[in-house]
Amino acid sequence: LSFNPEDYKTLIQSLPDGKLSYSLLTRAFVLINSTRSRIKIVDTLTNFLRTAIACDPASLLPAVWLTTNDIGPPHEQTELGIGGSVISKALIKVGGLDQKGLRTLYNKHGDAGDAAFEAKVKQRTLQLRKPVPLTVNDVYSSLVKISRSKGTGSQETKQRIVERLLVQSRGEEVRYLARTLVQHLRIGAVKTTMLIALSRAFLMTHPPSSPNPPSALSKLPKEEKTEIFSAAEEIVKACFARCPNYNEIVPGLLTAGLAGLKDICKLTVHTPLKPMLGSITRDLPEMLGRLGSREFTAEYKYDGQRAQIHCDEKGKVSIFSRHLENMTDKYPDLVALIPSIRGPNVKTFIMEGEVVAINSDTGDLKTFQTLASRGRKDVTIGTVQVTVCMFAFDLMQLNGEELLGKSFRERRKLLREEFVEVEKRFTWVKSLDATADDQDAVIEFFKGSLKEKCEGVMVKLLDNEVPAGDSDALETDTTDLDTLVEEVQKKPNPKGKAIKGKEPRKGGKRKPLLATYEPDKRLESWLKVKKDYDASTDTLDVIPIAGWHGMGRKSKWWSPILLAVRNPDTGSLEAVCKCMSGFTDAFYQEMKEKYSEDGENTTRTKKPYIEAPELHPNVWFEPQEVWEIVFADITLSPNYTSAIGLVSEERGLSLRFPRFLRKREDKSIEEASTSEDLAAMYRKQMNSGKPAGGVGGDE
Ligand code: ATP
Repeated sequence: LSFNPEDYKTLIQSLPDGKLSYSLLTRAFVLINSTRSRIKIVDTLTNFLRTAIACDPASLLPAVWLTTNDIGPPHEQTELGIGGSVISKALIKVGGLDQKGLRTLYNKHGDAGDAAFEAKVKQRTLQLRKPVPLTVNDVYSSLVKISRSKGTGSQETKQRIVERLLVQSRGEEVRYLARTLVQHLRIGAVKTTMLIALSRAFLMTHPPSSPNPPSALSKLPKEEKTEIFSAAEEIVKACFARCPNYNEIVPGLLTAGLAGLKDICKLTVHTPLKPMLGSITRDLPEMLGRLGSREFTAEYKYDGQRAQIHCDEKGKVSIFSRHLENMTDKYPDLVALIPSIRGPNVKTFIMEGEVVAINSDTGDLKTFQTLASRGRKDVTIGTVQVTVCMFAFDLMQLNGEELLGKSFRERRKLLREEFVEVEKRFTWVKSLDATADDQDAVIEFFKGSLKEKCEGVMVKLLDNEVPAGDSDALETDTTDLDTLVEEVQKKPNPKGKAIKGKEPRKGGKRKPLLATYEPDKRLESWLKVKKDYDASTDTLDVIPIAGWHGMGRKSKWWSPILLAVRNPDTGSLEAVCKCMSGFTDAFYQEMKEKYSEDGENTTRTKKPYIEAPELHPNVWFEPQEVWEIVFADITLSPNYTSAIGLVSEERGLSLRFPRFLRKREDKSIEEASTSEDLAAMYRKQMNSGKPAGGVGGDE
């Protein structure tokens, strides 16, 4: 079987009992894994989803969760909660191995899936009865059962379910099932690809119950097809940014289609939306240059934790992190504060701000490290050791009304007028409204922020910019779902030509800046100016992936350490440089202990998803942390393959003189810099006229 369009019909007819089989899903995984071509990945996933939509729509949602390697959205805290020992025990039993045999297999492959696959292949001859084939729904509901199983006897229940799944799985199913269980699926179809594939699948295929006929997309000329594809993609992405939960998006698409999705994906209290993000600027002069003559506000950039606070009419409060995790239990003191900050007119709201550790006597700000030392679990008001203050900076919903489309000036007004300050516990971020003419005042404000232990300033546009004579300019923004839905709905005319949508903006005409709240977007209307950037250096957030034995004084430690960026399209980690500068001896020691030879955080064999050809470190680390590094410049490299194909077809990119700055405790490896970030920095470097530093990459 393949997922080529021409085989599509046969494929649908071959489904057992009309249920989407797990082997079909793993077939898609294998195909996705066998290519680096993004186009092929998107096509394969799209065709697989079309199969589900057409034949077994009830399995679409489980298939989407299994492909994204989750069982629920982050805020619902649906974790599998199975340790390595449950999986190892099951593999030992099902694969007829002992502990040592399993360890040898794991060391050989460096991947639970590959180890399980080999164990099960060896065992196959002993299996007498053919097991009942697994369906997608089977696997997903078993995982949900595992995650829901709590309390006494739950370990045994989980063990039983894992064993049954492994017994029933065959061939490639074993590999992907084991990877799913350890939550490292390692296929290219990561989160962003899923949204693209879903949008295409729903454009091309309608569920059997849908009254709409399938659109005649295949008859359209390529450019028009591309335009419709990207409009559909924007709809799904914008809806997902407001409501990042497949449990809403997938049923929404099945019942209402692309056109009706926006009515279903409204902002909802207690469901976090994706936060708006800030664009990096090198320093204040660059920031002022980028904003031109527009009026902006500079706000202190507090060094704490971003918090999205939701409150419903009954006063129930939820607090979510920057990554949409539910952290309500971590801040009972903040929850208790909410009734005091609600003004008399406030019924429901969704607000955003930074929670910062403070000195409870003086109100002085403390560092992020102090906040990080605060307990995370079972925190009660009585046990709170670190006092915090919430510095509010945005308001996204008030009394049921969505405010995302309003300008920042309007949202800020409501935030300041409708809520009540509580000394040293709740207030608004310190700010200065200005234009580029107020350069001196802005510089003083920036210095003041550093004095007060902030990281710098966030600069935000106050009003939507609508250039004279272009009153409909804002309508082209991707959040204008009505326009987009309309474009997608445009049917081909009888000659097979699509009726043209709005003309795309031609080069030369600048897109106006928006001061609206744009979930999950990094726009020019939110700029960050950090003190680190003052030294006019760029930084990257990279993942340490391997180490060599040090020489001389450093012989007891790992030095150099190999660093990687991530490629979200393929799911791989791409080696970018070796680093041996910026570490203290204590840090080296800590690294050696954490990544001890033959310990659980190291392997001898390179994992398949690590791209580091020609490099032979002494140990490979279990990728798990993110480091911020500085470097002199980016070079084309024959030795490193990171970002290959993005700047040059033959060469990758590497860094000269990388230096460790700090650990990013607040980032998971999924949030490390990407190969595209690196390529963008390289292009910027070339445009700035800075020399490329020659071909290198191993200084
Ligand atoms: P990003 O969140 O942009 O992906 P990041 O995680 O590296 O990047 P920073 O570069 O430090 O974070 O900058 C953005 C963060 O700054 C926000 O997520 C928020 O937590 C914090 N912040 C502090 N003060 C403000 C403010 N006044 N306005 C917006 N964000 C602020």
